[in-house]
Amino acid sequence: MQINSRLPNVGTTIFTVMSALATEYKAINLGQGFPDYPMDEALSEAVAKAMRDGHNQYAPMPGHLPLREAIASKVKKLYGTPIDPVNEITITPGGTYAIYSAVTAVIRPGDEVIVFEPAYDSYIPNVEINGGIPIRIRLTYPDYSIDWNKVKESITPRTRMIMINTPHNPTGSVLSHEDMLQLQEVVKDTNIIIVSDEVYEHLIFGGKQHQSVLRYPELFKRSFVSFSPELFKRSFVSFSFGKVYNCTGWKLGYSISPAAFTSEFRKVHQFNCFSCHTPMQVALAGFLQHEDAYLNLGTILEKKQQFFKAMMETTPLKPLPTFGSYFQLYSYQGLTDETEAELAIRLTKEAGVASIPVSAFYADGTDNKVLRFCFAKKEDTLAEAANRLARYFG
Ligand code: PMP
Ligand code: GLN
Repeated sequence: MQINSRLPNVGTTIFTVMSALATEYKAINLGQGFPDYPMDEALSEAVAKAMRDGHNQYAPMPGHLPLREAIASKVKKLYGTPIDPVNEITITPGGTYAIYSAVTAVIRPGDEVIVFEPAYDSYIPNVEINGGIPIRIRLTYPDYSIDWNKVKESITPRTRMIMINTPHNPTGSVLSHEDMLQLQEVVKDTNIIIVSDEVYEHLIFGGKQHQSVLRYPELFKRSFVSFSPELFKRSFVSFSFGKVYNCTGWKLGYSISPAAFTSEFRKVHQFNCFSCHTPMQVALAGFLQHEDAYLNLGTILEKKQQFFKAMMETTPLKPLPTFGSYFQLYSYQGLTDETEAELAIRLTKEAGVASIPVSAFYADGTDNKVLRFCFAKKEDTLAEAANRLARYFG
């Protein structure tokens, strides 16, 4: 039998590869992005209670309605945009799935999709499996910002989608208000759809504010620029509870899009996973009321980032600016000629610290001599990792 692969160039994800290597060499895993501290016990207890209370059968296909209602009121409060919980929110098994479903719902063979690189590793395969053509635009190095002139030059009559991600994985850069206005300018009067990956919406710091495509009246009042209606009316926006509640293994998230888009999204979703884990949805519907749990996340993460950076000063690695996400990039320019992958593997095996080569987020393997470290860890873990690296580099 011959398999004619639809993704001939795709191997095993870098996260799986580096996590397996970290386990094999008993290295501290600062590669794959996940916290090593516990989630809130009140939330896990609420899931157990939901199970005991008998919430153990299929949830409705679009998701448990009280959870969708809680999300709609959170969005209204944070970003000012009224969202219809019945027709505009779908609960999904994670943010990655929400992005895949959005792309699959609308991309046809030959459609061009603008993807900024470095790009979260699922985006390009998501486009390609649907026959779409990824148009890769590099973020500027080392600040990883968008060159909007390049975007304008890349638009063709076949441009069907632009994928954005803020705060950004792997770089920790964030889009500004000005970026969102530029995006609006680019898509205005077109049929270009936006997929906005906002899984790190609350993991933002350094005085920055999350620029959601869902943000509207506040800016409208301040600047008289009506921006999100122009953006949201053409957007699929993806979120992940895993990132918000320190439970990446739950694989639960959601997609928000205008009703007509949501109806297409659900055509894909209903024949893929159909519906998500009921007890978790019941628990989250209640837990979402505790605003502090997500509003404090940026402060918590910033403290960890500062701690890690201070500890890492004893190593020859040089930090790049980070304003959000779980990740701190380090440049090793001038230290060795090894590729990022070679150094990441050597540090895992010999120093006992795993990281992720940023080249894995470029289709052409662009190598700027930068490694990604996840700092969503206990201070002890971060200190031990930094000490190991300092000892190793001598
Ligand atoms: N997008 C980005 C940029 C991410 O880093 C993640 C986290 N893995 C996701 C989406 C989706 O997360 P999940 O599928 O685990 O909810
Ligand atoms: N988002 C996580 C990261 O970037 C990993 C998710 C995954 O393993 N697919 O590290």
